Amino acid sequence: MSSKRPPLLWFNIFIFASSLLLAVVITPWYAFNYGMGWAHLIWFVVAFSFTNLSITAGYHRLWSHKTYQAHAVLKGIFAIGGAFSLQNSALHWSSDHREHHKHVDHDNKDPYSASRGFWYSHMGWMLRNYNQQTYSDYQNCRDLKKDKVVQWQHKYYAVLALLCNFGFPILLGIIYDDIVGMFLVVGAVRLFLSHHTTFFINSLAHIWGKQTFTDKNSARDNGILAFLTFGEGYHNFHHLFENDYRNGIYWWQYDPTKWLIKACSWVGLTEKLRVTPPLKIEKARATMMLKKAHDQLNAINAAPALARKLEQDFDSLMESMQDYYNSKMRLLQSKKQQVLKSHELEVLMIHHQQLKHQFHNQQQIWLSQIKRFA
Ligand SMILES: [Zn+2]
Ligand SMILES: [Zn+2]
Repeated sequence: MSSKRPPLLWFNIFIFASSLLLAVVITPWYAFNYGMGWAHLIWFVVAFSFTNLSITAGYHRLWSHKTYQAHAVLKGIFAIGGAFSLQNSALHWSSDHREHHKHVDHDNKDPYSASRGFWYSHMGWMLRNYNQQTYSDYQNCRDLKKDKVVQWQHKYYAVLALLCNFGFPILLGIIYDDIVGMFLVVGAVRLFLSHHTTFFINSLAHIWGKQTFTDKNSARDNGILAFLTFGEGYHNFHHLFENDYRNGIYWWQYDPTKWLIKACSWVGLTEKLRVTPPLKIEKARATMMLKKAHDQLNAINAAPALARKLEQDFDSLMESMQDYYNSKMRLLQSKKQQVLKSHELEVLMIHHQQLKHQFHNQQQIWLSQIKRFA
């Protein structure tokens, strides 16, 4: 049985084992004996944010999914941060990730399929040579092969990774007169935490949390994971609407990657940010609520009249939702094109307010029904 398993990837095992040992055993010992200061903590936060955001905003939302376009300078920064985070080149990472979305939860075709358990999807898939055949020519990333920054990073990945992981900590060590301490904190601890928080998206974000928008795959929305991963924890939304530059779409959801991409658009570093029409999002959310409520009703063998009532409320909600979003779009277009006279626009706005009111009322009714059933 074991002879059939692909060969172990000793280099990966060495990186994961040594960063674990350095972060969990050697660093606390060093800090206890030699002490560490604010500079260590501040530079840890800077390096952790830089590497993780390079993965989330760069590798993930820019290169894997093309949810927006970025200036070459920003791409260069992400390419360096990606090499610093030691998660392979952007080309390789994106190739894996596109397969993950295309074949999500498939035992063999999804490179880090959650269907094979927590350990496999977290890091087991990187310890053996499981996916060699998919890397031959990066067929699923032909667009990225034309991206000069991606090609440059892929070609010099090893040099960049070595320079960043040794160069930055050593430079800080020289400045603050503590080469070993900075190497441990900004090098090892940062790498260890950056790795595992990113890996949580492949493992925990497919196990733990809510299926808010779809249950066709195992992806979950989880606020705690979003906090640890710069917004990537809203993974259920992401798997359904992968072309959206946001993962957390509501104002109260923590998604610093989205904020960074948006802020960069104000200074010309990003453009063409793609968003899903709100009608599509809200329809998916309400449909999922209906499905869950139906499951609950079936489980308790409720009277069919209850299910019918729920469906009627759902249909009314869909109708008022459609009217509201259509009117919103009409209003926005009219304002943009400036074709209406002021009194015509006023009429349109009053009508829009009525539809908004109607939609919100219907939403309240729907939510109170759902609370009873679900
Ligand atoms: Zn993705
Ligand atoms: Zn996923």
